Amino acid sequence: MRLQTTAAVLLAAAVLVPDTALAEKKSVALPEIANGTVAPRVVYLENPRFPPFTTEGLRQVLSAAAGLVKDHFGIKVVLPKQIDVRPIDKVFAELARRAPRWLKRKVGDFRNDRVDWNAVRKNLIKQIEKQKDPLEKQIAFARPYLSTPVQRAEVASFARAVAATFRDRLAHWTTATLADGHPIIGRVPGRPDLPLNEYMYWILLTRNGFPAEIILTNQLVASVEYIPTPVHTSIRGGISGGATEYNPDSKLGSSVWVSLFPYVSDDPQIVALRRGDRYSRAQALAYAGAMLAHEMGHQLLHVGHPWSNPACVMRPAEVLDFAAWVKKFDAAGCRLGSSAAMKPGAIRIPVW
Ligand SMILES: [Zn+2]
Repeated sequence: MRLQTTAAVLLAAAVLVPDTALAEKKSVALPEIANGTVAPRVVYLENPRFPPFTTEGLRQVLSAAAGLVKDHFGIKVVLPKQIDVRPIDKVFAELARRAPRWLKRKVGDFRNDRVDWNAVRKNLIKQIEKQKDPLEKQIAFARPYLSTPVQRAEVASFARAVAATFRDRLAHWTTATLADGHPIIGRVPGRPDLPLNEYMYWILLTRNGFPAEIILTNQLVASVEYIPTPVHTSIRGGISGGATEYNPDSKLGSSVWVSLFPYVSDDPQIVALRRGDRYSRAQALAYAGAMLAHEMGHQLLHVGHPWSNPACVMRPAEVLDFAAWVKKFDAAGCRLGSSAAMKPGAIRIPVW
């Protein structure tokens, strides 16, 4: 869902380290899918602080995804017998140790309220001006979700409202708590201080090579970066539902990861971004599966985002309103090749 952002990260990295492979603009080759079947390896990265998932629950997410991948893309997904469960702390401790300095500089320190919001606003202006949709249309899309109103219908004013909303929503995670009474994002006594919620570290995770095609986690990923971030990511407070990223150890050239927290949490801010909706366990797992199928579309076929066709799994959900999103899916109304975005190979997944 954040492919656009990954490209921006890499662009920023290329500027900082021009003599590396980054500058060569390589991308992952479109996978060859033998017999229309894939058999992904699945790893579940578990944070013991967050709502737990049983193996059975994870299987329901995978099955829901497999069903949609079959219907929408005609590819059979053979699910693994075993889901490899790993403690997230161990994986991220290693990641944090190996993180390059340029990557750390792209991370906004919202936990300590030390984000350069002027820089974020400037990046937002660039994003807004780059869009094909006229400004009025972009404002109309965002308006229902803004915590600060747009003063005037001009770019700077719109960017100010989006950045203020971003800031409010992100700050929420540093005060809202989990069942253990500690902040959803922040220091917890007796636990290592790791960048578990930081999008930049999630792209680094697979970039370093990780033995899975699918990664699931119960961790919330929400963060702010000094890179051009799309308006739709900004207004939901920097929450990343998942992404598809280069992975040299993946049989498919890339891996997908999906964060399951937004589906099972009843945190008031999450519920508000779902427009007040609350999900049963079965619904939550099915909607998480839909997000996984979306990412698998990027991974298996390199298809993009057909914004104007709500029948497509590949059209991103509005904020976190997954029920409304899934209800509109219709495989017959969104065939492969039915739009430029739905042509295999429409997007490139950068190799870096
Ligand atoms: Zn996407």
